[in-house]
Amino acid sequence: MAIKILANDGISAEGKAKLESAGIELLETKVAQEQLINYINENEISGILVRSATKVRTDIIDACPSLKLIGRGGVGMDNIDVDYARSKGLEVINTPAASSESVAELVFAHLFGLARFLHDANRNMPLEGETRFKDLKKGYSKGKELGGKTLGIIGCGRIGQAVAKIGLGLGMKVIFHDPFIEKVNLKLNFFDSQSVEFGLDSQSFDEVISNADFITLHVPAQADGTAVIGVKEIEKMKDGVILINASRGGIIDEVALLNAIENKKVFGAGLDVFEQEPTPSVHLLMNPELSLSPHIGAATNEAQARIGLELADKIIAHFQNA
Ligand code: NAD
Repeated sequence: MAIKILANDGISAEGKAKLESAGIELLETKVAQEQLINYINENEISGILVRSATKVRTDIIDACPSLKLIGRGGVGMDNIDVDYARSKGLEVINTPAASSESVAELVFAHLFGLARFLHDANRNMPLEGETRFKDLKKGYSKGKELGGKTLGIIGCGRIGQAVAKIGLGLGMKVIFHDPFIEKVNLKLNFFDSQSVEFGLDSQSFDEVISNADFITLHVPAQADGTAVIGVKEIEKMKDGVILINASRGGIIDEVALLNAIENKKVFGAGLDVFEQEPTPSVHLLMNPELSLSPHIGAATNEAQARIGLELADKIIAHFQNA
C-alpha cells in the first residue's frame, strides 16, 4: 500500500523532494482542525506532519486507524498527545537539533539591536529622522559593546550551547547555569576547518544572574508552569541588565519585567515568545525598551530545510523498517 504523508503545516522543498524520491506520497493540503479526522480516514493517511498550529490529540489518534506516525517539525510537542500516541503504538518524531543555530542567531540579533537602540531607532527614524536627527543621535549615544561583557545563559542544552559558541566568538565571558548539566565541551568550528575547543562549568543560578550583563533563557516550559525569572530574581541582577527570552512564553514574568524596565533596573529586553500567543499583551507591544519578534526563532530557510530533511530521513527509516 502506498505511504501517504499529510504535511498539514507545510514542509520544506528539500524534505518534500527527499520523501518523494523514496516513493512516499506527500499531501500538502492545509486541512482545518475539525476536518482532519475525515480527511485522514478518507485518504488513508499513514503519517501527519505538523509544526505548532495543528493539534494531534487523542480524538484523532483514536479515530484514525491508518495513522502510524506523527511528526513535529521543530522542538516542543505541546500540541501532540505524545504519550497517548506512543501507548497506541504510533511513532512520534520531532527535530530537536535542526533549529538551534537559528534561535541562537536571533538571540544575538536582539542583543546587538538592544545594545545600540536599533529597536527604538527603527521605530523613530521613519517618523522623526528628518526633523529631529540630532536629538535621536543624542538619545542613542550611550550604546554598549557586547565584546568583553558577561553573557549569562540559563539552560545550556542545544540552543544554550549554540548561543555560548557565538558569545565566545565575540569575546564575551560566557557563564551558564543548568541543573542537569555539569560541564559543556564546546567546539567552535571556523570556515577554514580550524576549530577551538572550550570547556565551561555550570555555575549556581544566583551566580549567573547576579554577574551577567546580558542574560538569555533557553529552558523548556517548567513542569509547574512557573516563571524562571520573576521579581525576586530580577532584584539579584546587575543594574542595567539586558534580558532575552526566545524559549517559551512565561519563562520571564512579563509584569515583573515591565516593572523592572519602568524603574530602570532592566535596561531592555528581547522577546520572541509571549505568555499570550498569538495575542501578546499590548503593554509589551507598546513598550519602547523591548525588542520584539513574533516567535520566529526557528524561522530561517536553513533551519526549515534541515527540519524537512530530518523529518524525511526519520519517516523513510520508519516505514522501511515497519
Ligand atoms: P534542550 O532540551 O536541548 O535544553 C534545555 C536545557 O534547559 C536542558 O539542558 C535542561 O537541563 C535545562 N533546564 C531545564 N530547566 C531548567 C531551569 N529551571 N534552569 C536552568 N536550566 C534548565 O532544549 P533546546 O532545544 O535548547 O530548547 C530550549 C527552549 O527553546 C525550549 O523551550 C524550546 O521550546 C525553545 N525553542 C524556541 C524556539 C523559538 O522559535 N523561539 C525554537 C526552538 C526551541
